[in-house]
Amino acid sequence: MPLRDRSVPHIPASNGNCKSYFSDVDLDGPGRSVGFLYIPQSPDHDAWGTVRIPLAVVANGTGPTVIVEAGNHGDEYEGQIIVGELIRSLAPSQVQGRLILVPSVNIPASTAGKRTSPDDGLNLNRVFPGDHAGSITQQIAAFFSDELLSRADAFLSLHSGGSSLDIVPSALVQPAQDPLQQQRNLDAVLAFGASINVQLNNLGDTRTCVASAVAAGLTCVSTEMAGRGTVDRDALALCRRGVFNVLQHWGVLDSGLDLPRPEARTLHRVLGPQSYIIAGEDGVFEGLHHPGEPVCAGETAGRIHFLTDPRKPPVVLTYTADGIVFARRQPGRVRPGNVCAVVATPDS
Ligand SMILES: [Zn+2]
Repeated sequence: MPLRDRSVPHIPASNGNCKSYFSDVDLDGPGRSVGFLYIPQSPDHDAWGTVRIPLAVVANGTGPTVIVEAGNHGDEYEGQIIVGELIRSLAPSQVQGRLILVPSVNIPASTAGKRTSPDDGLNLNRVFPGDHAGSITQQIAAFFSDELLSRADAFLSLHSGGSSLDIVPSALVQPAQDPLQQQRNLDAVLAFGASINVQLNNLGDTRTCVASAVAAGLTCVSTEMAGRGTVDRDALALCRRGVFNVLQHWGVLDSGLDLPRPEARTLHRVLGPQSYIIAGEDGVFEGLHHPGEPVCAGETAGRIHFLTDPRKPPVVLTYTADGIVFARRQPGRVRPGNVCAVVATPDS
């Protein structure tokens, strides 16, 4: 069964007549092509400059086209390391089809170690399908949509929790309306081999890279690999193994590689707003559970303390869904609207 339903139309970026990028990577040729995408920019310090984004293609024979992307958020490191390893190590003879490898797609954010771009303040994962006439982050999304997603059958997007969250290392299902596509997504997520698999839709936000890819009919897997703005040893090992598992599952990597087979795994869901513990006060959040711990609706999630007025007792926050703590806020300081924790509920 094909990994992409080609009857679903490509979702183009805005202002397709304003493309100004160029690349020394041959997206459509055979063999290895390793280089960069260049997007012209003209800031104060570089009048005729470019933003240079690492890019590689490894192609051989016939088979699916698969994108492996990381560094969408610059402070999420495991995926960026693993895709770099793939670029350095993969030979065309190991590939059946085409692998498009983008290790640090938001290179301005990656260089700064930040979630969002220091150049325009935008979150790459909230501007898809992008705008060729927009700011640098919108232009990166537009290139990704029109040059990469348009070519691909399947998409593996590697995220971690970043500086503000600590997340249970896991593979994620972005919901698809087509039941066949939903099953392809779920099968691939289970093939990743994480002990926790979670379905969530970012509270319905359609501007993410994966939501855009799913809407265009691609088979998709994304991940969350720990976080805290660090590189987690165990998450890195899981990510390395899981990427190979999924690429073998999709048939784009040689199945002769000696890898552990994933066991049967369960699915959790982030149900909706009731799964989010959101601060209503300015203060310091004391969470009572670590990521992965089981919790119940009605149970105390934590307290917000008011350090500037010790006369004021802390405000208690409670869970409103059963499940496990899937993600927990990393910095102690919170303001109204900050997410302190997210619960994932096991599928019944
Ligand atoms: Zn991310």
